[in-house]
Amino acid sequence: MLIVSASCLRNVVITRDSLYDGEKEGDEMKEFVNINESFPKKILTPASGFLSRYSHTLNPYIGCQFACSFCYVRQSPVGLFRGEEWGRWVDKKVTAANLLEKELLKLRDKDQSITIFMSSSTDPYQPLEYKENITRSLLEVMAKQPPDFLLLQTRSPLVVRDIDFLVTLKDKVRVSMSIETDLDSVRKRFMPQSPPIQARMKAVEQLRENGIPVQVAVAPILPFSEQFPFRLSQLVNRIVLDDFFSGDGSGGKRTERLKISELYEEKERELWYGNHVHLQVYEKMRTAYSPDAFILVKKVFNVGCDRSCF
Ligand code: SF4
Repeated sequence: MLIVSASCLRNVVITRDSLYDGEKEGDEMKEFVNINESFPKKILTPASGFLSRYSHTLNPYIGCQFACSFCYVRQSPVGLFRGEEWGRWVDKKVTAANLLEKELLKLRDKDQSITIFMSSSTDPYQPLEYKENITRSLLEVMAKQPPDFLLLQTRSPLVVRDIDFLVTLKDKVRVSMSIETDLDSVRKRFMPQSPPIQARMKAVEQLRENGIPVQVAVAPILPFSEQFPFRLSQLVNRIVLDDFFSGDGSGGKRTERLKISELYEEKERELWYGNHVHLQVYEKMRTAYSPDAFILVKKVFNVGCDRSCF
């Protein structure tokens, strides 16, 4: 049973079982994850590259238990040189909330615009967050000192636990839920440790019911059923499409090094892997959506797009 009222949410202990509704697929976590504490000097990082339309990125953790096969962080220095398998270790930033409070005040004193992308190299609602509450503590700070905008990017239904803080941010927040496919068999092949698709869809519904601005990120685009565009159109009127060639920050090179094409079945590869996929999927989505819906294909419309595009 899922909960829909923000005022009720704080009286209920949210567990993975309650959010996943008994589905066990997303529970395929590694038995052993090396958890460490981290004490960074700063918590807000100036945004750059494909996130440069934001002023800052915010990562409550380093490392990610979801361990998606296609994760571009695997190919970044933190993923390459740690000496441990991606997904098997997480550093938690235990002083994150204190740092954020101070840094927000400082930026406000300088009258700087603060637009935050959380998170660029971890999932803020990975399983460790159930007990650590670091992301929650950051939202608590932002509820008191709101940034100009917060984009909260996740694959986890745990985000509904924090609806009480999200409602206070009103239109200064948007939750972006990654739903790359509606086929759980595909999810299990590409990201077996991530939450089940149905649980993510339910979370989107709950966020909407509570008036939180929400979009679905079909990112990266994975093979999906004919029904998927229609299911999405019932769920949200705003979607972002992103393929491996524009979404890995290297024009597809990181994805190639990760040998992601080998995860496709032979008959799928031609249809679903390549430079053409984003336009094909855009057409499919357009047939399901009304003309006034917001469908962003990042590869095509990225240039000249302001923060409202994300
Ligand atoms: S959830 Fe995001 S950060 Fe975590 S492994 Fe998957 S792609 Fe990487």
